[in-house]
Amino acid sequence: MGSNQTTKTDRRRFLKLLAGASVYAALGSAGIAHARPTRYGKLMDTGLCIGCKRCMSACKRWNNLEVERNELTTDREIDLTANNWIVVNLLTDSKNRFKTTYIHWACHHCIEPACVGVCPVKALTKLSKGPVVINEKKCIGCRYCFQACPFKVPRFDFEKRVTRKCHQCYDRIPLLNYMKPACVAACPVGALHFDYKEEIIKEAKQRVQQRGGSSYIMGLTEAGGTDMLTILPTNPQDLNLVVAPKKIVNQNLDKIRITAAGFMGASGLTGLMYLYAALTRKADKEGHDQPK
Ligand code: SF4
Ligand code: SF4
Ligand code: SF4
Repeated sequence: MGSNQTTKTDRRRFLKLLAGASVYAALGSAGIAHARPTRYGKLMDTGLCIGCKRCMSACKRWNNLEVERNELTTDREIDLTANNWIVVNLLTDSKNRFKTTYIHWACHHCIEPACVGVCPVKALTKLSKGPVVINEKKCIGCRYCFQACPFKVPRFDFEKRVTRKCHQCYDRIPLLNYMKPACVAACPVGALHFDYKEEIIKEAKQRVQQRGGSSYIMGLTEAGGTDMLTILPTNPQDLNLVVAPKKIVNQNLDKIRITAAGFMGASGLTGLMYLYAALTRKADKEGHDQPK
């Protein structure tokens, strides 16, 4: 009986090992690597923000951006510029003017960024870790990215003749020396949070649930999803925020170029066929019309 039981247990263990090995073989090393989160995201929680603007000054310090007059002390609404990659503004709920909230606003680092698709010189890239960055050496200042961006983020620098925006401190998140973006590290109250994308989604949902579930998480669906999520007290419309469409029309220039090349090729072929038909018709006609 005892030896029978041992044999059964051994067989079960062996079958388990075999199943494990088959799953490993089916997934392959690539499957295992895919299971690990690699993309980062930023969470902005308006419910905790106190409007201190330390995130703005930290961004300017890290990226050597000029400080414009009064922008770090005023409570008037300010806009993104080539030197302001983050703005902090006080928003009023249009349904209740006594309800106000501070918001930290910057590039949302879209998962499928419209700006990347339209850039004619491929100056914009979505990095595998999440940030969308502009290579200023390649940028020709055409501003197509501004036109295409659903949040109107990239801004033209009239002195440098290039377009600039937040790059989510991609230069601070190297593999071995993990550092948070400058704004996140500077926030004194935890209104900014940086982690793997999956973790920030979990964190955002948990915070919303703890507050009774009436808050809105911007970025889960807007523009097809973004790597920056913002917890708002209400929906973006009530706060007069830009309402990004849920789906961005794919404006990938490569596809347009291929389609255009295909169209031109097809037109050229049609033209040649037309010319051939016209010539043969003329020859036939000439043949028929020739007096016999
Ligand atoms: S928010 Fe605008 S600039 Fe930022 S990644 Fe999305 S499309 Fe590009
Ligand atoms: S302004 Fe620069 S980054 Fe933007 S689309 Fe034109 S070349 Fe690309
Ligand atoms: S540093 Fe934090 S609390 Fe201060 S304005 Fe920025 S997000 Fe808000």
